[in-house]
Amino acid sequence: MTAPLIDPFARAISYLRLSVTDRCDFRCVYCMSENMTFLPKRDLLTLEELDRLCSAFIRLGVQKLRITGGEPLVRRDIMTFFRGMTRHLESGALEELTVTTNGSQLEKYAADLAAAGVKRINVSLDTLDEAKFAEITRWGRLPQVLRGIDAAQKAGLRVKINAVALKGFNEDELFTLTDWCTSRGIDLTFIEVMPMGDIGNEDRFGQYWSLKDLRARLAERHTVTDIPQRTGGPARYVQLETGLKIGFITPLSHNFCESCNRVRITCTGEIYTCLGQEGHSDLRGPLRATEGDAPLEDAIRAAIALKPKGHDFDYSRQTVDGQVSRHMSHTGG
Ligand code: SAM
Ligand code: SF4
Repeated sequence: MTAPLIDPFARAISYLRLSVTDRCDFRCVYCMSENMTFLPKRDLLTLEELDRLCSAFIRLGVQKLRITGGEPLVRRDIMTFFRGMTRHLESGALEELTVTTNGSQLEKYAADLAAAGVKRINVSLDTLDEAKFAEITRWGRLPQVLRGIDAAQKAGLRVKINAVALKGFNEDELFTLTDWCTSRGIDLTFIEVMPMGDIGNEDRFGQYWSLKDLRARLAERHTVTDIPQRTGGPARYVQLETGLKIGFITPLSHNFCESCNRVRITCTGEIYTCLGQEGHSDLRGPLRATEGDAPLEDAIRAAIALKPKGHDFDYSRQTVDGQVSRHMSHTGG
């Protein structure tokens, strides 16, 4: 039995979020600029390398794997990777395989994901208004995503919606979103907009809608009860009297770092042990250096030994402090 990964602050690392591509078929305004330059394809880890990397983490104790991007489902042949991970689910070494997606390709892949052993997916959806959806995603089309969500539910996947809370944009849709999720048996999580990457002319602070305010708004119409559910991540949960569970991801107004159990890997094999810090280590070099996995496992342990205590995002002075230069699509949200 290999010793599990423990960081310098005694946190066990059991959750890996892996970005399999930096590319996307949308250009959400808070995430990307309209003219993004993507990485040369040769810099990306191959599907075989992604498999080796995940398998090494699973050997070292990772039990939960989330595939993200960019848009993970636009990566060519990505189902081959998912099917590869099925063996770890079947052996019991991996407890859960999940995906975060914009939903555009779900109609095509929902059944394949379910067959590979995926049970839950997160779909990002900030608005149910077709025109607003096109505005916020620039290139996305709402009906395609809704068809994808239908396909996912039909395939038996449990769906959770991730909505970025955006001032002046989806504030007026709060109850439309909660009612829609309740009626479809879908959980909902709100995310505060984070200062990541240069996204052109957007005004970060202007976009910021505090989830404290959002919660107060919810309470005008619903009974909002805190529930003790924890995932080791930044989400805190409440339940409405309708039964709807709502998560709040509040990296800016709360600090959640003390129970952080996760690390992130980019599509080029850089490991970021904290979403809110610039520090990272390279795993592609050790991965490509030899066919054996010993150098890779050493590099993983060395990277975990550098995991920082926490992030420094701070909006409290009415400006964006602690901003990191990379885009969310680089590290994977
Ligand atoms: N393309 C997939 C999707 O949209 O679900 C996966 C990658 S995306 C980067 C993951 C999540 O990050 C999405 O829910 C998106 O809304 C969120 N996100 C992107 N940029 C963000 C930002 N600056 N602040 C907060 N959330 C952000
Ligand atoms: Fe693409 Fe997801 Fe970023 Fe939107 S949030 S641009 S869908 S990676």
